[in-house]
Amino acid sequence: MVVASVVPNRDVLAQPGSSEQIIQQLQAMRAAGDTSPEAAQALKKIESAIADSAPYALRRELAKTRMFVLQDSLDSEEALKAVESLRKLAEANGDVDTVSLMDIRRIYMSHADDDIGKFIGQLNEVRAKIRSDASPEVMEALELSYGNMYFDAGNFDTALRHQLAALDWAEKLPLGSDRARLFRLGTIADLYNAMELPEQALAYLDQAQAQPNATIPARNRISLLATRVIALMKLDRMGDAEAVFSQVEDLAGSDDSTFTALRIGTLRAEMLLASAKPESALARIDAVETLAGQSGSAYYLARAWLLRGEAQIQLNRVDAGIALMDKAIDFFQGKGQMIDVLDGLDREIRMLREKKQFEGALRLMDRRQQLWSQLFRNERGRAIAEVEALHTAQALEHQVVTLSSENRIQEQRLRAERLGKVLALVLALFAIGVSAWLFRAIRRARGERDRLSEVVRLDALTGAASRYQFQRRHAQTPAAESPGLVKRTLLLLDIDHFKAINDQHGHEAGDAVLKAVVERVRRSVTKDDEIYRWGGEEFLVIFKHRDDESLFQTVLGLLVEIESKPVPWHGQVIAVRISGGWVQHPLDDGWKTPLTDAIRWADAALYHAKNSGRRRIEKVELTDNGRLKLVNRRPVDMPQLLDWQRSGYVNLRTVQSGDSSKKETEELSV
Ligand code: GH3
Ligand code: MG
Ligand code: MG
Repeated sequence: MVVASVVPNRDVLAQPGSSEQIIQQLQAMRAAGDTSPEAAQALKKIESAIADSAPYALRRELAKTRMFVLQDSLDSEEALKAVESLRKLAEANGDVDTVSLMDIRRIYMSHADDDIGKFIGQLNEVRAKIRSDASPEVMEALELSYGNMYFDAGNFDTALRHQLAALDWAEKLPLGSDRARLFRLGTIADLYNAMELPEQALAYLDQAQAQPNATIPARNRISLLATRVIALMKLDRMGDAEAVFSQVEDLAGSDDSTFTALRIGTLRAEMLLASAKPESALARIDAVETLAGQSGSAYYLARAWLLRGEAQIQLNRVDAGIALMDKAIDFFQGKGQMIDVLDGLDREIRMLREKKQFEGALRLMDRRQQLWSQLFRNERGRAIAEVEALHTAQALEHQVVTLSSENRIQEQRLRAERLGKVLALVLALFAIGVSAWLFRAIRRARGERDRLSEVVRLDALTGAASRYQFQRRHAQTPAAESPGLVKRTLLLLDIDHFKAINDQHGHEAGDAVLKAVVERVRRSVTKDDEIYRWGGEEFLVIFKHRDDESLFQTVLGLLVEIESKPVPWHGQVIAVRISGGWVQHPLDDGWKTPLTDAIRWADAALYHAKNSGRRRIEKVELTDNGRLKLVNRRPVDMPQLLDWQRSGYVNLRTVQSGDSSKKETEELSV
């Protein structure tokens, strides 16, 4: 792909304008996406012709191209060194974009899944320094690093938002835009598979297939096809999966890397297991295990244990199989590879159910449930994710019902075949009991609070509407169909230092404060406005649309009402302070975004309020520029909101009560 004519000689370099040409040649190499040994050779020739005294732009392009072309042959230490040295060069030349890019790359390259918080923190620091006019290259790298890191750590919801943002930026890249888009589409499809949403995965894979892919290396095409195979398997379309898999095998000839061999071998074994062919699967697993051992891939070794365990259970060597699957799951847990933990748990649960080991299955279901809720960062994050995942939950519920009735039928049939009719009837009744119990237990595992709220719709403590009620009323409300259809204002409130109230005065005092807050909010709003208990000490108020000034008065009044009087508690008094985020929905008349987007905005604003000292409500407003630039976007988190503030896309307006009754200030900087 790389032609000899790109190689300059020293004479050419001496001529004016020639470094421009070489830069273009280097960029063309990157755009071509070639990482072959021939490309490396061609690069070497260019390199040898470039002196250390060459202009910065040229040396930068050379360093970048080196990193790209040699990505497979540099070991991680060499790669890190290359990153550090380009960073130094860029810094010496005042090239902030490249400095950021190298910082992001370094963090991504050195991140470890089991301490993801630390590396996310480092990325946050880099992001705080990135200017609003940073290049798409920087932004894409940032988003995809966040996205991949959250993905590995199993925080799917956050990962997805970052991956989608990276996809947006990929479109704007000056170089390799098609390729970057294609990779993002593949990753998003992987994510949807991990989220058990294979239809969405297929939709993104279709988009990827529609991309021009002449320069896509075989390995990446194999990856995309493998993702498709997994989606099809999840949809039980085994015939289609087989057909796609044969394309994978055809392509495998043009990529003899160990990675590809491991991936294909594992996939084949998974397919054989899905078609209940454990013997043939074992042969594949043996091969994967040998290769993984030889190449020192602990990950694929553990995948092999997992699949071998599954095969053994299928072959009725249940105890040995369980032990092996558990070993693999523990390995993944130890490495923080949550996707594999979830996949392992799913597989083992399925096997145990098949073998009628309901107790074991329930234990694992519990573990899986706990894992899901741990994967969201806090109460509020969980609440938002829950609302967004509502349709998933509904699908799961449907699945549970279907499964439990399938179970019932299967149990009945099995028993009837073996035993006499009378006995069968007794046992069928028992089976109904088992599956009803199972069904209830799954429901229980989905959270005590949810189960309660499904019954009551109102929060038992405060009388505010429950989150379940919110879901019923709003989660399925589609984006405003026509501009300006239904306008609302959302206010997310969180009591300040509530934990300290509990700690100092006891949990019951905390409860009394929660009740008082809801009473006071209710006094400040109209009957048409809605009050939800959003999380522990968090509340969501949805105002029917009214003009700005009247809303401002209402929100200020609410703040004053809450803070005016301390809550009496057994002869003592408890001062109540609160922070909030406030946003109009839709943010701009023409925007067609769902209400849950507004919650994201309000959430980011609330974080900002907490971050800037609490006891205040931050209102988000779009600027004229923001109206153009942010159409239908929503912030991933608070730092992003602040980025947009810095870029002049949003204004944050602070509402504070405070001693001198009212005060309104414009927040200008972080
Ligand atoms: P911040 O100002 O940052 O919001 O700090 P905070 O202490 O208010 O926030 P944090 O999220 O650390 O603590 C919230 C506490 O609320 C923790 C939890 O035990 C408590 N909580 C949640 N639900 C209830 C409840 O129903 N009753 C009582 N009394 N406490 C609750
Ligand atoms: Mg809170
Ligand atoms: Mg709080």
